[in-house]
Amino acid sequence: MPSRTRLIFAATLFAAALSVQQTQAQQGSSGSPIQPAAADPAIAAALKEISAGQLRATVEKLVSFNNRSTLSSMETDLAPGTGINAAADWIASEFERISAACGECLEVKRDEFTEPGSDAPNSRIRKPTRLVNVYAVLKGTDPAQSARRVLVTGHYDSRNSDNFNTHDPAPGANDDASGVAVSIECARVLSKLKFPSTIVFVAVAGEEQGLNGSRHLARLARSEGWQLEAVLNNDIVGGDTTPGQQAYEDKSAVRVFSEGVPSPAAPEGSPDAIARIHNLGSDSDSPSRELARAVEDVSQSYLRAPGIHTKHFTATVSTKPTFHPVMIFRADRYLRGGDHTSFNLEGFAAVRLTEWRENFDHQHQNVRVENGVQYGDLIQYDDFDYIANVARLNAATLATLASAPGEPRNVHILTAALDNNTELTWEAPAGAPAGTTYEIVWRATELPNWTTFVSAGPATTIKLPVSKDNVVFGVRSTDAAGHRSVAVLPLPVRR
Ligand SMILES: [Zn+2]
Repeated sequence: MPSRTRLIFAATLFAAALSVQQTQAQQGSSGSPIQPAAADPAIAAALKEISAGQLRATVEKLVSFNNRSTLSSMETDLAPGTGINAAADWIASEFERISAACGECLEVKRDEFTEPGSDAPNSRIRKPTRLVNVYAVLKGTDPAQSARRVLVTGHYDSRNSDNFNTHDPAPGANDDASGVAVSIECARVLSKLKFPSTIVFVAVAGEEQGLNGSRHLARLARSEGWQLEAVLNNDIVGGDTTPGQQAYEDKSAVRVFSEGVPSPAAPEGSPDAIARIHNLGSDSDSPSRELARAVEDVSQSYLRAPGIHTKHFTATVSTKPTFHPVMIFRADRYLRGGDHTSFNLEGFAAVRLTEWRENFDHQHQNVRVENGVQYGDLIQYDDFDYIANVARLNAATLATLASAPGEPRNVHILTAALDNNTELTWEAPAGAPAGTTYEIVWRATELPNWTTFVSAGPATTIKLPVSKDNVVFGVRSTDAAGHRSVAVLPLPVRR
């Protein structure tokens, strides 16, 4: 080989080698596909304790109060053991019973108040009415993190066709004894474990009159300075069993509703805040939307793993999808509202879980048969294997978030220079335990969920060869065992 040709050959080889090196470096730092976190064996064991029979017993008891209208709290002629006051007392006693079984690990509380009532045409509370929210607090065991809270709620009030009817049956087996049963079952199985931060198990009243109970509790949380990081509202999670409807129902799915853009009625929905969302294109990255993504992430670790499916799925596990959340990117269903909105309006991340397909013959209806059709929110239309799966998803999410470090604080994306890379900075969450590390997650702007991650280890800054113009980033904390916090959207700063 002539020397000149040799030189060119060597240079070509060198260039090829350099190109391979560059490609490898770029691939390494431009992320890997996100994998489910390893299941925590203690959490997985708690999920196996969730019992369809226990959930049925709770719903049967709630139905036995005949009519749980919030307005029944002021009636004096109800049969003993009926009406909403009796239901509230029973829920409190149930939390106390669970607490006794865990060495008094729960603090059982009542948030009691009187709504003044109004005679405005649309008012659903016409005279002063006593409401009580009942809740149980499982205090975190790490003094540095116990102020952090996650919360699960359902509403224990019910109604029939007439908002003001306090005496005829309003069983509310699905709407929302099912959600209350999830709260209580989560308390029962999670109270046997210890978590560094705090879990609150809630049953609220007044949902049917206009979210009155949850509004009061959300405002209490705000005024008492609760560090409330996640609210899971379960409302209508019974899984409809109506004959003839099963072809349309999907027992493998539960919807998780989350708001994208904050309500103009919330402090986070100010014109300035909305303008920033517009500029960033962050209309699908509210704290509630990131919480919905965390629910989906948790489900991957616990509900899709072999070995913990309910009897409903074991026979068909290979041909049917296993139980999973379906993120719905809107605050709630058409014409309907729910208690998560009360928490959103106070600036808290909150999502709503609801069965895949609702049957409106069995909501807000007088119990009756008309033209051969059975109306009424009766227990026979609840599927307790389905409710058990919803409870498992809730418990896994609560346990994971209560075990994980808090969310990274002051998460920023540096935008001083025009370039095609990304530099992120953040601060450790308050009380972060030793071993806390951070993951940068991202997705293409048109995708619903995170796809890609890199670990920053314990560092609180990172530079990535990925254009901030083309993707959406989030930063989340993980502890040494791999429990992941909710991801936080970085806000731009010029530095
Ligand atoms: Zn409801």
